[in-house]
Amino acid sequence: MPNALHPPRVAIVGAGPGGLASAMRLAREGISVTVFKSETALGGRTRTIHAPGGYKFDIGPHVLPLSAGLPCFRLRHAPW
Ligand SMILES: Cc1cc2nc3c(=O)[nH]c(=O)nc-3n(C[C@H](O)[C@H](O)[C@H](O)COP(=O)(O)OP(=O)(O)OC[C@H]3O[C@@H](n4cnc5c(N)ncnc54)[C@H](O)[C@@H]3O)c2cc1C
Repeated sequence: MPNALHPPRVAIVGAGPGGLASAMRLAREGISVTVFKSETALGGRTRTIHAPGGYKFDIGPHVLPLSAGLPCFRLRHAPW
């Protein structure tokens, strides 16, 4: 249980949608979060690749079905 003397601290491994959404939600609750990532870019499998010539390629999702109840949509509509 959180208390003022020993506030919770959370380590999240991976900066994909799951890690980033979890970090955002915890941070909004006032919890100290550290995200550890193994790559230079954020986004995990949904990241954008920057190619020569200024081209950008989104390598992950192109379709995000609302009916799937994805965490990002639940977060977007969360009442905070
Ligand atoms: C081509 C493609 C198309 C897709 N299309 C869709 C779509 O249309 N709709 C949809 O809903 N989903 C789609 N997906 C799936 C979607 O990308 C994944 O569901 C989503 O990325 C999962 O998020 P995640 O955070 O769980 O994992 P990931 O995105 O895999 O992120 C995990 C991160 O953790 C890092 N990591 C792992 N181990 C460590 C470690 N030990 N230390 C530090 N970092 C670590 C990884 O490098 C990665 O950056 C698609 C995926 C691909 C590849």
